[in-house]
Amino acid sequence: MEEKRCHYCGGLFIPDPRVGHRQKACSIACQRLRKKENNRAFTEKNPAYWSERYEEVKQWRQRHPDYQRRWRQTKRRGRSPSEIQAERLRKTIEFAERVHLFLREIQAEILLKSITIPMKKAPLILKVH
Ligand SMILES: [Zn+2]
Repeated sequence: MEEKRCHYCGGLFIPDPRVGHRQKACSIACQRLRKKENNRAFTEKNPAYWSERYEEVKQWRQRHPDYQRRWRQTKRRGRSPSEIQAERLRKTIEFAERVHLFLREIQAEILLKSITIPMKKAPLILKVH
């Protein structure tokens, strides 16, 4: 199997023979990035998907009130307290990253506005004179 360059970290890797040339990520960490990117692309392509599904999901959850609690229990089974703590830390970091990205988007919007406003005002001033 020929070496490939990872689309995410740029490192070289040997693809899993079961995946072959289709493999784009070298490691679990890069696969997580790939999954995140795919999820983001899906949501961008289908912006109403989650809000449209919400009513249906809400009704299903009312019919299965114990589902979430049981799901959490099976997920935590066999995990040590430090593994659970590490998972919480990972989720918190992911949340902080999302907030950071969101703030950067707002900052970019503000910067763009401060550039476009004087440009919009300029022709008006010219008309007045
Ligand atoms: Zn990689």
